[in-house]
Amino acid sequence: FAFDLDAFRKDLDGIAIEDNPALVKQKSRDFFWYSPILKGQLEHVTGDLVATPKDEAEVIRILKAAFAHDVPVTPRGGGTGNYGQAMPLSRGLILNLAEMNKVKAIHPGRVICEPGAIIAQIDKETRAHSGQELRLHPSTYATASIAGYVAGGSGGVGSIRWGGLRDIGNVLRLRVVTMEAEPRILELTGWELHKVMHAYGTNGIITEVEMPLTAAYDWVDVLVGFDQWMDTVRYCDALGNADGLLLKEIAAIAAPVPHTYFLRHQKFIPEGKSVAVLMVAPHAMDAFLAFTARAKGEVLFRADTAADPKGLPPAYELAWNHTTLRALRVDPSITYIQTMFAPPTHIEKIETITRLFGDEVPGHLEFVRFDGKITPMGLSLIRHTTNERLEEIMRLHEENGCPIFNPHRYTLEEGGMKQTDLVQLDFKREADPKGLLNPGKMIAWEDPSFDFAAQKTYLFPGLQQTG
Ligand code: FAD
Repeated sequence: FAFDLDAFRKDLDGIAIEDNPALVKQKSRDFFWYSPILKGQLEHVTGDLVATPKDEAEVIRILKAAFAHDVPVTPRGGGTGNYGQAMPLSRGLILNLAEMNKVKAIHPGRVICEPGAIIAQIDKETRAHSGQELRLHPSTYATASIAGYVAGGSGGVGSIRWGGLRDIGNVLRLRVVTMEAEPRILELTGWELHKVMHAYGTNGIITEVEMPLTAAYDWVDVLVGFDQWMDTVRYCDALGNADGLLLKEIAAIAAPVPHTYFLRHQKFIPEGKSVAVLMVAPHAMDAFLAFTARAKGEVLFRADTAADPKGLPPAYELAWNHTTLRALRVDPSITYIQTMFAPPTHIEKIETITRLFGDEVPGHLEFVRFDGKITPMGLSLIRHTTNERLEEIMRLHEENGCPIFNPHRYTLEEGGMKQTDLVQLDFKREADPKGLLNPGKMIAWEDPSFDFAAQKTYLFPGLQQTG
């Protein structure tokens, strides 16, 4: 992309702009460095400018100017994505939506927000208003934006009850601005939402989000320990399938991870214990404890009766990619992979993988409802040695019937289903005809002849070579 930055800037007069290179670089990064492969590829990436619009009218002005001057635009919420999603591979403008952060309206069963609204703040307001909360949130609750979650996330805390973000009904409406000479405003609902959900902002800028709400509870954080990893797995599976028990989070994490890496909870977790990380509804505690006693689980910690739970992170910050984060802080050589253990043979598959890799791939499972079935999704840790071995570990998972959602790739397709998403591609043709939105992330757009079956890694030719 060749563009005249000064001429573009003139058109942005009156809009908050940042051009200090150090600050621009800061806003050009996300949590890509969880991956040793992406770290090597993206470390130098930076944009030219950051624009921080205060309302939708400014977003439209910015997109109109960017279209006129051929400037790439990469939207950004909280910048907590893991795959370089929010990184401007071809330089250009970072569209920082952090200041568009208001909760606009709360109704029975739904909330309407600006795109940059922080997820924890939304819950705070809906709880105070009417005892409601979002169905799902990522473990980056405290820092992630709602539009970033919809455009870059997939599920999280609450998925054990409600499934994933892309399950129909888990997002109600998105308002989207297109990247055209005269940007249009579209309201998407129903199946149309899939045009822009988990599309990394490659085909429209979300300026308003309407999400469903559910009853809010004072969820009780609980850690349950087992001597054997597979007993932890079976317990979590049975707990997820206990239809009468209301939980918001079920994760299984293999020893030695909990004791070694959950430093602030270490005093509760004996060495050698594999742990179930749980969030239980207060009214379900008696039944939950009875269930756990029968399964011979040892309650190591429960926040409702703990003597001094202050200073401890919430349970969800031990789960999802916070498990990886805590491990990385202690041992920088740790990385992770994402995999699925599909029922009905999920237990056998987990046994096979555990036997195959042992402590080189410590188990971490997030139990979610997937197409109606309780399913363990692996966010397994990896004791990283070489990138070749990492690729081999992923290949061995696939050969053993465990599909990988590769977190070491920056493109939509390679991180997901390894095929073209025609709905998203068609919408990009319509909403971003010049291909200026977050370039390099949608292979189907950049290289229509790319052969996914050949198992080669896609390298975006437009990736900037120096910072
Ligand atoms: P960003 O990182 O800013 O953006 C994400 C993507 O959305 C980018 O491609 C960006 O260009 C695009 N985007 C942002 N705003 C807009 C907009 N207004 N319009 C169009 N596109 C836009 N993810 C989960 O799904 N579940 C988890 O439990 C989870 N846990 C995590 C734990 C840790 C420790 C970390 C580091 C990450 C985790 N993630 C998880 C990934 C990430 O935190 C979430 O997906 C988060 O919701 C992203 O929100 P954000 O505001 O930080 O988005």
